[in-house]
Amino acid sequence: MTYAGKVPLAIRLRGVVKRYGEITAVGGLDLDVPEGTCVGLLGPNGAGKSTTMRLLTAQAIADEGELEVLGFRLPEESKQARAQCGVTPQLDNLDTTLTVEQNLIVFAHLYRVPRKERKAAVERALDIARLRERRGAKVDELSGGMRRRLLIARALVHQPRLLLLDEPTVGLDPQVRQELWALIDGLRSEGVSILMSTHYIEEAERLADTVMIMSHGKAVASGEPRQLIDEHAGREVIEVYGPPATLVEAEAEAQRNGFLTRRTGTSVAVLRLEGANGSAPQGRRRASTLEDVFVLLTGEEIS
Ligand code: ATP
Repeated sequence: MTYAGKVPLAIRLRGVVKRYGEITAVGGLDLDVPEGTCVGLLGPNGAGKSTTMRLLTAQAIADEGELEVLGFRLPEESKQARAQCGVTPQLDNLDTTLTVEQNLIVFAHLYRVPRKERKAAVERALDIARLRERRGAKVDELSGGMRRRLLIARALVHQPRLLLLDEPTVGLDPQVRQELWALIDGLRSEGVSILMSTHYIEEAERLADTVMIMSHGKAVASGEPRQLIDEHAGREVIEVYGPPATLVEAEAEAQRNGFLTRRTGTSVAVLRLEGANGSAPQGRRRASTLEDVFVLLTGEEIS
């Protein structure tokens, strides 16, 4: 096991490169996930998040670099690593011909949970998914939220030390998303290490101890959300609203005065108010967010 200071690392990547022909999906990535923490991978479409996840499960093999998962080197020791990892894919791949309980039993076998412990493992997973009452239901009969809970619980049937979540709440309504956040936060407080890719800034802000922002296969920033906000966007932002011509003017004026700006579609946000010499524009003041940092660094709007 490799350590960062005294903390063992659940994941350690150094200089990882993955190419698909001409495309460099991951271009020299370093990533640490200290044990017992939740790390959020943020990035616009095509940034390389899913490829990074696939490298960690050895579904894809890196062209260069070092990969260690729970102290095991990939790809050589991927079997040992996988045995202690839970994975929830971005696309729901539950077996719709089986019931809730049968889906969990299949995974208890796949993950080689000893026969004597299998029943208890399935019951525990049903509790995590809060689907005890629906154990006999076919997957097709479940709501979207229930299916997602089952997908996560299925990854936990063998009590993994590390959970890899690829876009765990994509396409779900806000209420269901919050339910899943509670589930994920609970797992982290029990000491499970988590790496989670996400499009949703709020998800990363709420759940992740540290986030890494990726763009074009590279890390453009990483750290605690609060620290990244202070460093890149400052404490406060002023938003200027108005017709497009006003926005163009406000943007130019702010930049002349040495401010950083970003477009939000309907407004211009003026960042790092404490950093420039000129006077700040008139507008609505609000606290800076991780989304400001994200857009500033990747040039992309959040979905
Ligand atoms: P999204 O949020 O859209 O899932 P992502 O950050 O997960 O995006 P990846 O899916 O890792 O991004 O893709 C990174 C780049 O690698 C993209 O340009 C993508 O087209 C390319 N890529 C990924 N998988 C393959 C593949 N199997 N063959 C060829 N190119 C691929």
